[in-house]
Amino acid sequence: MSLVDGLGRSIDYLRLSVTDRCDFRCVYCMAKTMTFLPRQQVLSLEELERLAALFVRQGVRKIRLTGGEPLIRPGIVGLCRNIAALPGLRELVMTSNGSQLARLARPLVEAGVKRMNISLDSLDPERFRAITRNGDLRQVLAGIEAASGAGFERVKLNCVVMKGRNFDEVPGLVRYAIERGIDISFIEEMPLGDVGRSRGEAFCPSDDVRAVIAREYELLDSAETSGGPARYVRLVRHPRTRIGFISPNSHNFCGSCNRVRVTVEGRLLLCLGQEDSVDFRGLLRGSPVDDGPVVEALVGALRGKPLRHEFTGAGEVQVVRFMSVSGG
Ligand code: SAM
Ligand code: SF4
Repeated sequence: MSLVDGLGRSIDYLRLSVTDRCDFRCVYCMAKTMTFLPRQQVLSLEELERLAALFVRQGVRKIRLTGGEPLIRPGIVGLCRNIAALPGLRELVMTSNGSQLARLARPLVEAGVKRMNISLDSLDPERFRAITRNGDLRQVLAGIEAASGAGFERVKLNCVVMKGRNFDEVPGLVRYAIERGIDISFIEEMPLGDVGRSRGEAFCPSDDVRAVIAREYELLDSAETSGGPARYVRLVRHPRTRIGFISPNSHNFCGSCNRVRVTVEGRLLLCLGQEDSVDFRGLLRGSPVDDGPVVEALVGALRGKPLRHEFTGAGEVQVVRFMSVSGG
């Protein structure tokens, strides 16, 4: 079994959001005041598992659980265990803000989560609090330490770079990753949702980030991929750490897109940067035993998966959904 879209792209990667809620309110991801989904609109753990199984039967080989903050969803470890055990799934991975990892890193490894991406935008406690609007840096650093020693196949840091906020911290963040022998990816901010400011002012192209890293470290281009949109470079003197660049605005990567997303209310998103979606929740609940209607809707929707997003870095809102709703 394999899923192929209307442009011949093979789709084997699902990003599944398990909650739209979060203990942080990052300035690029959420507005200051957010309204979250009422419980009945959110897929249950059983429905999330059923969807995951259905996608794997259709040929999906990699699932990333995300959100919102996946680790604040009650029952998350059990959900991971059940999804990781699905026959045919190659890897279950997760993106987290790290706040709960000191407690959960080991149980997640034991449950079968193979790789962990952790967001870290600053190493300065005040700045960290300002960017996340209420995050505690110490808690996240403890989470990163716990994840580094827990037995994941890989731990990667994710940093959204913004001029005037954390661009000057790029070398320090690279150093932090090198000291722990983990990877770090630098991400360009995307115009998802109205966060109450124009994103253009803070926009920082990946080429600028690369240039400041290259002032301190000798870099080697690499053709490696981790199955996502990052382009990697190696550090000649630090072979354990890779630097990734996720550049939706400046280096469009849609030609090799291999993924779809499902939000926690069960909407299939064919492209992060387009509004198209299909309601799976109604189909799941309307057909509690037979997956046929969902599979049919999935295959039909893939025929119309958009060619690409249109992000440019200019900063105006292009998609009304916040990243926390889409599942980053
Ligand atoms: N809460 C988890 C976290 O922060 O890692 C998982 C969900 S979060 C939406 C997933 C990733 O999306 C994070 O690395 C975050 O930095 C990134 N992100 C959120 N909003 C973004 C935006 N507007 N542009 C680019 N990246 C964004
Ligand atoms: Fe929460 Fe992650 Fe969004 Fe920050 S980026 S508000 S941690 S979901």
